[in-house]
Amino acid sequence: MSSPLLEVRDLSVDYITDAGDVRAVDRVDLDVDPGEFLGIVGESGCGKSTLLFAVAQLLSLPAEISGGTVVFKGRDMVRLTDDELRHIRWRDYSVVMQSAMNALNPMMSIEAQFRDTIQAHARMSPKAIRERSAEVLHLVGIDAVHLRSYPHQLSGGMRQRAMIAMALLFTPELVIMDEPTSALDVVAQRSLMSQIKELQKRLGFAVIFVTHDMSLVRHYSDRLMVMYAGQVAELGDTAAIFERPLHPYSKGLLDAFPSIRGPRRPLTGIPGSPPDLARPPSGCRFHPRCPVAMPQCSTRDPELYEVAGTRVRCLLHADALKDAV
Ligand code: SF4
Repeated sequence: MSSPLLEVRDLSVDYITDAGDVRAVDRVDLDVDPGEFLGIVGESGCGKSTLLFAVAQLLSLPAEISGGTVVFKGRDMVRLTDDELRHIRWRDYSVVMQSAMNALNPMMSIEAQFRDTIQAHARMSPKAIRERSAEVLHLVGIDAVHLRSYPHQLSGGMRQRAMIAMALLFTPELVIMDEPTSALDVVAQRSLMSQIKELQKRLGFAVIFVTHDMSLVRHYSDRLMVMYAGQVAELGDTAAIFERPLHPYSKGLLDAFPSIRGPRRPLTGIPGSPPDLARPPSGCRFHPRCPVAMPQCSTRDPELYEVAGTRVRCLLHADALKDAV
C-alpha cells in the first residue's frame, strides 16, 4: 500500500484575539492518498476553510497553527520557510479559491496571469509558456482565444474554470479547493464538478474539496469528512456515510438536502446554529442542537470512535462499543 500524500496530525488553529485565543480547528487528523478525492463538509463557521488554509500554509494573523503537523510528500509543511513553500506551491500543490473574481487580477488578461504564475516557478520560453497556457485552458473546456480576455469578460463559470486551469499549470499532485462552485447556478455547478472529476481521473491528482453542500460531494468524493465546531464529527467512505450516517449532525446535513433517489420526504433543517467557538458548549459540542442527546452528552467529551471503518465523534457509538466488549 502506498503511503499517504498528505498526513495531517493533531492539527489545531487558533485565532488570537484581545479577548483570548479562539480555537477554530481542534486536533484534526486526516490522510489523503495519491489520486483521492476527499470532500469536507459542514455549515459556515465550522472550521473547514480555516483547516484548508492551514493545510495549504496560507493562514495569516490573527489565525495561526497552535499545534500539530501537516506532512505533505514526507515534509512537514508547518516547518518550511516561506521560500521553501513558494517552491512547492503551484508545482506540487495548488489552491482554488471560492471566488475567482477575487482571486484573479481584474487588471490583467488571463494570459498575463498564467505567465506570471509560470515565471514565478519555472524557467520556460515565451513560446512554451503560451503553449502550456493554451493547453491548460483547453483542458477545462475554454478556447485558447480567451487567453486574451480579462476576468470581467468571462462568465462566472468560465472564471472558475480559468482558476482551475491556473491551478493545473504544473500538474500538481494535490489541488485544494475552497467552495469553488458556490457562486455558480446549479447547472454550472454540476458541469464544473463533472469536469473537475474527469480531470482528476485523467491527470491523477488528489483533491480536497470543501463545501457546505452535501449533495455536491455525493457523487464525486471517495471519502467524506464532516466538520462541526472545529472538530471532525465523522470521517469515512462517502457511500457509507450517505447510506448510514453515524453522527446525528451528518444525518441532519443529509436530511437538509433533497435526494433524487428513493421516496419523497420532507426536508428538515438542523435547529439552531453552530456555537460561538470562543465559548464552545461543554461535553459534545453538538449537544444543544442534537435531537438524540443523552444526559451525559453535556458533560462528557466524545472521542473519535471507529465503527466499521468510519470514525465518528458521538457517545452513542462509544456506548455501543463498550456494550460489545
Ligand atoms: Fe448527540 Fe450526544 Fe452524540 Fe453529541 S454525543 S452527537 S449530543 S448523541
